[in-house]
Amino acid sequence: MGIWQKEIITTLLLFLAVAIMSGFTGHFLALLFLLMLSIIIHQVLQINRFEKWIRTGGRGKYPKAKGIWEEIYYHVYRMRKNQKIRKKKLSRMIDQFRRSTEALPDAAIVLGVNDEIDWANKAAREVFGLKTSDKGQRIPNLIRFPDFIRYLRAANYKESVVVPSPIDNRMILEIRIIPYGAGLRLLLAQDITQIKKMERMRKDFVANVSHELRTPLTVLKGYLETLQDMDDGLSPLLTNSFQQMQGQTERMQHLVDDLLLLTRLETQQKKTECVKIPDLLQQVCTEVDSIGIAGGRIQLTLESNAHIVGEEQELRSAFTNLVGNALKYSPDNFPVTVRWYQAKESIILSITDQGEGISKTDIPRITERFYRVETKRAKKVNGTGLGLAIVKHVLMRHDAKLIITSELGKGSCFSCHFPVKRICN
Ligand code: ADP
Repeated sequence: MGIWQKEIITTLLLFLAVAIMSGFTGHFLALLFLLMLSIIIHQVLQINRFEKWIRTGGRGKYPKAKGIWEEIYYHVYRMRKNQKIRKKKLSRMIDQFRRSTEALPDAAIVLGVNDEIDWANKAAREVFGLKTSDKGQRIPNLIRFPDFIRYLRAANYKESVVVPSPIDNRMILEIRIIPYGAGLRLLLAQDITQIKKMERMRKDFVANVSHELRTPLTVLKGYLETLQDMDDGLSPLLTNSFQQMQGQTERMQHLVDDLLLLTRLETQQKKTECVKIPDLLQQVCTEVDSIGIAGGRIQLTLESNAHIVGEEQELRSAFTNLVGNALKYSPDNFPVTVRWYQAKESIILSITDQGEGISKTDIPRITERFYRVETKRAKKVNGTGLGLAIVKHVLMRHDAKLIITSELGKGSCFSCHFPVKRICN
């Protein structure tokens, strides 16, 4: 029998007893009143006991009770017990999380909705020089570098930002913010001083070697020209050797020039001016067309007169590489289309050829330094494998994107997308 049924039956029995007793005494109403009063007093006392137990935290075993009250005590007791177990589990998890993030070599800071510090691990306290009293302080008041403030305000957390440590400017930190929950963010900072140092060493090494190679190359080229002038053509072997040597020194010269240009792109401050792109494209197309064996292949369409903010020499070398490649990697009698036009959100330069095309697996790799696709035709074509790496760098410095679409055997389209905010005329 259920507890409610028992309660109802007990109450009904009490009423029955009152009815029977009133049969003997004739005081039905008085007896009924007494019964109701005792029921009410009993319930009030039970409520009072229950309230006291809850008020004192409901700790330990619940007080002895009967009927429905025992049931109520039991359920509340069980709920509290389960809650306690869950709380313990949760605090164990939080503790584990805290201990593991505390042991992280990277700095971690939990930021609140107003950029205030909620929590920071040991590494964060060390690299940012945070004190316990900094809890609740707004992070822009502690890391004041303009780059970081801009990054925090822009809220584009796909990127990261590189800044020196506020307590030691020799230490370089890469900061990334990861949003989670409602308005909460985790700031992670990694010490990349060593990586930056190695990168600088690599750049310096390439720059120095390329620079040092220039002088011996010039000397070699000079002597070679003199020897070629002296060649009377009597020995085909000698004439052929001179030609081979000239080809190779030219190749080396291109390599050195491209490497030096790449180094400049990586290290030099950006200079900006308003570049007349239509004029520049006309010059580039004329120059490149005149180098090729079969001229007149380039069809230039200037649909926009937009000029853009940038560096003319850098853009010239990027465009020359792209147009030159389109001519190099397509048959001599096939046209190459160069288009300058405006789309919705960008202004685009597209260079389309009907050449051999590039496979899907090679497309993501051809902008890597020294990467050349190993096709029969490509092997015959001279190149350093640095052209597209230069293009990529130049476009990056102009906030532009390079998009490559290609189909094997049909041709390729290289398009440079400049943001419209760069238009300056
Ligand atoms: P290079 O032309 O000096 O080899 P690039 O960096 O300019 O170096 O190009 C890298 C590779 O990408 C080339 O070797 C070639 O295989 C491929 N490539 C570039 N442009 C084209 C094109 N228009 N059509 C087909 N393949 C191309």
